[in-house]
Amino acid sequence: IMQLYTPLNFFGAYYRQIQQNFIDMENMFDLLSEDQEVKDKEDAVDLKKPQGNIEFKDVNFHYTKEKSVLKNVSFKVEAGKTIAIVGPSGGGKSTIMRLLFRFYDVIGGCILVDGMDIRNYTQNSIRKVIGVVPQDTVLFNDTIMYNIRYGNITSGDKECIEAAEHADIHNKIVTFPEEYHTKVGERGLKLSGGEKQRVAIARTILKDPVFLLLDEATSALDTQTERNIQNALQKICAGRTVIIVAHRLSTIIHADTILVLKEGTIIERGTHQALLDTDGTYASMWQQQLENNTGNSSNNANLEKD
Ligand code: ATP
Repeated sequence: IMQLYTPLNFFGAYYRQIQQNFIDMENMFDLLSEDQEVKDKEDAVDLKKPQGNIEFKDVNFHYTKEKSVLKNVSFKVEAGKTIAIVGPSGGGKSTIMRLLFRFYDVIGGCILVDGMDIRNYTQNSIRKVIGVVPQDTVLFNDTIMYNIRYGNITSGDKECIEAAEHADIHNKIVTFPEEYHTKVGERGLKLSGGEKQRVAIARTILKDPVFLLLDEATSALDTQTERNIQNALQKICAGRTVIIVAHRLSTIIHADTILVLKEGTIIERGTHQALLDTDGTYASMWQQQLENNTGNSSNNANLEKD
């Protein structure tokens, strides 16, 4: 669809784009505490209709000189494939996402999208084609409809409702006092973590990005919510290039490749089965999760009501 902007709503849209980036990333990337350093090159080009290939090539990165965060990280994700990143806290998983979103530039090596260094693209055009489902979605103090439409402000009500259906939250919304016109957020109806995540999924459906970054929630959801979210996530992953930061290994069994990242280095990589066969770090993480799941299913005690 051609978008015709008068100067006024051009700035409106531009501002919303900035805000959108901010909202998407706020929690996942702790933007508030960071200075944005990255500037577009003067001859930067727009990334248009990407095929969807990502490559990290010998990427080195640190936030402060004293501490190297990524060390020669190399991997490829082909268009339409899913890569999952697992590993101990502080290993650099979110940093990989931030670099792809270009909140920072790499210090060594490069990140290629469709074979071209992302430093040659405009930041806005990259961010337009990347969808993010963060752990904890920020909602505006506005209606649930507004919050869903945020994924693509040109969407009509009908499209928003369809997205909500696909994200498995429509049936919930129609139980709200004013259905889609119910105010949510801090000053309105509070949504549970699982509901907020499904709002993020609905937004992503409307945004229809080529790339998708998922940051799996660490907090336990009840089984039914978990199942609904997994279904909805599976649907939005289809046909996109996906990077998942995973905490529960059960959700990434089918990933095309799993990277185990520890202290900034990829120490293992392969499919779930291949990594189990290797009998290394991943295999012991898997074993650990199996043990945690048997024996204390009451672990899910602080369930959210859904
Ligand atoms: P988690 O699983 O806990 O989310 P992670 O694997 O995503 O961890 P990152 O958030 O990428 O890890 O952090 C990697 C390292 O970089 C950590 O040691 C962290 O303390 C450090 N770090 C992250 N953000 C900053 C920052 N803005 N300034 C300085 N150091 C940072």
